Amino acid sequence: MAFRHGLDSQIVIVGCGISGIGAALKLTKHGFRNVRILEATGRSGGRIKTGNMGNNIIEIGANWIHGPSEANPVFCLSRQYNLLDPESLTQENQDLAIGGHPPWVPNWFSSSGRKLTPELMGPAVELFAELLEEGGEFSEQGGEPYSSVGEFIRTEVRQRAAERWQGDSLSCQSFRLSLISTLLKVECCVNGTHTLDTLGLGAFGLYKTLPGLDCTFPRGYEGLINNLMKELPTGIVSYHRPVSCVHWQRVVRKGGREYPVVVECEDGERIPADHVILTVPLGYLKKHHGTLLSPPLPLHKLHSVQRMGFGTNNKIFVEFDEPWWDEDCEVIYLVWEDESDLVDQVSDVERFWIKKLFGFTVLKPTERYGHVLCGWIAGHESEFMETLPEQDVTHSITHLIRRFTGNPTITPRRVLRSQWFHDPWTCGSYTYTATGTSLQDIHNLSEPLPQQGEQPLQVLFAGEATHPSFFSTVHGALLTGWREADRLISHYSDPSTFQPTRSKL
Ligand SMILES: Cc1cc2nc3c(=O)[nH]c(=O)nc-3n(C[C@H](O)[C@H](O)[C@H](O)COP(=O)(O)OP(=O)(O)OC[C@H]3O[C@@H](n4cnc5c(N)ncnc54)[C@H](O)[C@@H]3O)c2cc1C
Repeated sequence: MAFRHGLDSQIVIVGCGISGIGAALKLTKHGFRNVRILEATGRSGGRIKTGNMGNNIIEIGANWIHGPSEANPVFCLSRQYNLLDPESLTQENQDLAIGGHPPWVPNWFSSSGRKLTPELMGPAVELFAELLEEGGEFSEQGGEPYSSVGEFIRTEVRQRAAERWQGDSLSCQSFRLSLISTLLKVECCVNGTHTLDTLGLGAFGLYKTLPGLDCTFPRGYEGLINNLMKELPTGIVSYHRPVSCVHWQRVVRKGGREYPVVVECEDGERIPADHVILTVPLGYLKKHHGTLLSPPLPLHKLHSVQRMGFGTNNKIFVEFDEPWWDEDCEVIYLVWEDESDLVDQVSDVERFWIKKLFGFTVLKPTERYGHVLCGWIAGHESEFMETLPEQDVTHSITHLIRRFTGNPTITPRRVLRSQWFHDPWTCGSYTYTATGTSLQDIHNLSEPLPQQGEQPLQVLFAGEATHPSFFSTVHGALLTGWREADRLISHYSDPSTFQPTRSKL
C-alpha cells in the first residue's frame, strides 16, 4: 500500500474573492500542487470591485482599509505592492486610534434647505458617539439590558437628551433628535443592516477595530487583487464556473484513488476532491444552503447561518460641475426635520426610499476626483433602489439635493449606483451580528465538516462572515482564507494524519 503525501491532495476553493485568493496563495506557496479555484463570475475580487465613472476611479465594493497599521495584513500587503499614498504610510497615520469612526469634517443640511451649524449639531454628535462606545461594552460584560442596539440607543437618547438639553429651545432639541435619526441610518450603513433594531446589543462589541486612520487606494482596491493574482500559479482559476453542489461524505473513485468529496458545477462538471474551501458570501449561503451542500449542513451550523445577519449597503456616486459643500467638508449629513422620533427606516419604501440615504462622503483629494460624492443607503430601501431604472435614481437624487440646499438649479453631471443585493453571487453586502447571535455563531460558521471521523476537513469555511472580530471587512476575509489554508497545512504536518491511499493498484 502506497502512502500519499498531503501535498498531492486535491483542494478545491469555491470563490475567487480575497479569502479564496488568500487561501490558494498560502497553500501553493507551501507546496500543495493540486489547488484549484472555481469562480462563478468572469473576474477575481468578489466584493473588491473597482469601476470607472467618467475619468474617475470609483470603488463599487470595498472602499477603505479599516485600521491601516502593522496588525492589518491588507495594509502590509498594499504597502509591499506600493499601492498606497505616502500619507497613509506615515507612523502618525498608523498610530491614530479612531475606534472605527474617522474624524471627518462634516456639513449638515436640513430638509427645509438650511445649513446647520456645529453649535447646534455638536451635542447630538457627542451623545451618539458616547452611546456607540457604551453599546460596544456589553459583549465583555455579559448580559444584554436591551435586545438590540436600536432599542438601547433610542431609550438612552430619550433619557439623556431630556436631561441635558432641557434648557435649549424646542426647535433646537428637535433638530438634534432628527440628526440622531440620520446617525442611526449611518450605523445601518456601517453595519449593513436594515435597522439597528435587528443588530444585537450583546454581540455589538465583537467587532474590533485596529489603529490607523482609514485609507483608500489611489489607483483602486482591485490593484491589491491584481498583485495577489500575479503570485498564483497560472491557470489555477476557472472562471464562469458556478458550483451548484458540494457532495461530501462520499467515496468516489477516480484515477485509482478515492475521494471523500465531489464538487458539482452548474455546467455538469464533477470534480473529485479531498478538501473544499467554501468562501461564498453568507448572503449566498443563506439563500442556497439547501442545495449547495449534500448532505445538508448540521443543524447547529444551519441555525447559525440563519441567525447571523447579512444586509445591504449600497453606494450612489454623484458627480457635479461645481461643489455645493465647503472646501474642507468630508461628509455631508442630511437631516429630515420631520424625523425627531428617532427613526432609521421609512414607512413606505416605494415612495420614501430616498429618506434612508443618510448623506454623502466626499471623494478626496479634489485634484484627483473633481467634485464627486458617494451617497450611502442601507436596508430594504437600498434593495428597492436597486430595482429602479438609473434615471429614476438620478431624478430622486437631484430632487433631494435641490431640496436640502435650497438651490433649484443644482444638476448632477453623472450618477452611478451599486446593486449588491441583486448580485446573484453575493445577495447583499456584508455580515452583521443580528439580535440573538453570539461569538458561538461565528465559531459555528467557521467549523469544518465533518466534525469527526476518518476523513476530517472535507469542507472548510472561509470568508468575511467567519472571522470572529473582523467580519464584514477585507482584512477579516483575508485572515480567514489564511486560517483555513493553515488548518490544512497543520493537518498534513502531523505525521499521524498521512493517510495511506486506498489504491487498488
Ligand atoms: C458596498 C461595500 C462596501 C464595503 N466597504 C468595505 C471597506 O471599506 N473596507 C473593508 O475592509 N471591507 C469593505 N467591504 C467588505 C469587503 O468587501 C468584504 O468583506 C470582502 O471583500 C469579502 O471577501 P470574501 O472573500 O469573504 O467574499 P467575496 O469577495 O464575496 O468572494 C466570494 C466569491 O465567491 C464567488 N461565488 C459565490 N457563489 C459561488 C458559487 N456558487 N460558485 C463559485 N463561486 C461563487 C463570488 O462570485 C465571489 O467572487 C465592503 C463591501 C461592500 C459590498
